[in-house]
Amino acid sequence: MAEIDSLKQALAVSPDNVPLLLMLGNAHMASFQIEEARQVFTHLLKVDPSNAEAKTCLARLLDVSGKSSEAILRIEQVCQETPNYAPAWILRATLALNEGEATLAREYFDKAVLIDPKTKDKELLKRIEQGGGRKGPGTRIQSSGDQVGVYLDPDSDDDDIFEAFDVDDDDSDLELEFASRPDTNFAKVGGMESVKEDIRMKILYPMQNEELFKAYGKTVGGGVLLYGPPGCGKTLISRATAGEIDATFISVGLHQILDMYIGQSEGKLHDIFELARRNAPTVLFFDEVDALAADRKDLRGSAGRTLVNQFLSEMDGTEAHNEGVLVLGATNAPWHLDSAFLRPGRFDRLIFVPPPDEPAKEEIIKIMAQGKPVTDLDMGGLAKKMKDFSGADIKAVFDQAIEESLGQAMKSGKIVPVTNKQLLNAVKNVKPSTKKWFDSAKNYALYANQSGFYDDVLTYLGLTK
Ligand code: ATP
Repeated sequence: MAEIDSLKQALAVSPDNVPLLLMLGNAHMASFQIEEARQVFTHLLKVDPSNAEAKTCLARLLDVSGKSSEAILRIEQVCQETPNYAPAWILRATLALNEGEATLAREYFDKAVLIDPKTKDKELLKRIEQGGGRKGPGTRIQSSGDQVGVYLDPDSDDDDIFEAFDVDDDDSDLELEFASRPDTNFAKVGGMESVKEDIRMKILYPMQNEELFKAYGKTVGGGVLLYGPPGCGKTLISRATAGEIDATFISVGLHQILDMYIGQSEGKLHDIFELARRNAPTVLFFDEVDALAADRKDLRGSAGRTLVNQFLSEMDGTEAHNEGVLVLGATNAPWHLDSAFLRPGRFDRLIFVPPPDEPAKEEIIKIMAQGKPVTDLDMGGLAKKMKDFSGADIKAVFDQAIEESLGQAMKSGKIVPVTNKQLLNAVKNVKPSTKKWFDSAKNYALYANQSGFYDDVLTYLGLTK
């Protein structure tokens, strides 16, 4: 505080002194005075409109205030305008990692270190290598449902921040690790019309009209399992489901629980369900359900089996009521599911998430191009060339083409737009990923289709009688 006061005094004499403004802004950030920091950096940019440090700090403040999409846009802009400013690439890496884009994060991280080896943040590198999870500068959701921006220095052990917000340390760790308030919704998911309609009918309407559904003997609650080939939007649509109803989104990779919390997985799983209950309405999303749902005998020893039992009893609501908690599970390998998972009250509704059809591909292309410098885009032409592509494959095409233009832009110091030709070239380099999945799924659908589990897959493949 003394530092802030003396900086303010100095600025009273010299109000437009850029180094002083930077020091004051950073001091406010270090004291978690988000609004004050924002005002200082905004003023600084009036004095020095091209100041990359101030712009980077403002992007970070947007992120900690829960506006992560805006933060990403801003930091992309800073990287374009001042490609040699390493801290911007570090922040871009952090934001990409928070979005689950570990490969991109690694790319940005390497760029930063190449420009300035001093920016090498070992903690961030470790997280990138582990594949992500939101930590560090991030958004935390309070039990009331209000959003609170909190800046956390990854290197700091400072516990004061938790005291300041009156929550215990463990809880905050869990929230930071798993919870967010998505700023996405169905409009930002290309295609998937029938999946959206299914989710409306099976999740959103029942939740919004609970009494009505009960009157017709329909159950409300339980879990919905999304299955289908990888990269086709299961995670994205789950986030968007939370966004549609302004719910907290808690995302848990079950491998993550099994690997990170060896010996204490059941406790962590219980804590996560409790976190979801406290923050209701919550969409509690479990990715890789097959990690748990594999034949229980095969699971990694008895630890795995206990975890399965814990999971099932949490879902049954025997531990506590799951009111306002929507459990969504995702798997690419539904054939590994133990039938115990599919009983009423558990994952008793299934939704097949197919690859995008041509109009959906066009929509995804449009979404990917939004806000980026792309010229002469022929969405229809591109979509036609993307046979068997998943949404993630389409994203890989854009990543590749953008990377190429960015490289040229970094050399010339000017924005070099991505062309349709570059995208077409990138399409040739990306291997469609959905076909392999259908090769396996087809056999299960034809020969192990108990209770019509795979009817949607058969319909998709045109194999229904
Ligand atoms: P996995 O089974 O491998 O976990 P998934 O089915 O959960 O994959 P997502 O992680 O949701 O797939 O999708 C990967 C990325 O592909 C998304 O982050 C998004 O960028 C893009 N993507 C996929 N489908 C769509 C879509 N319908 N609209 C817009 N983007 C999409």
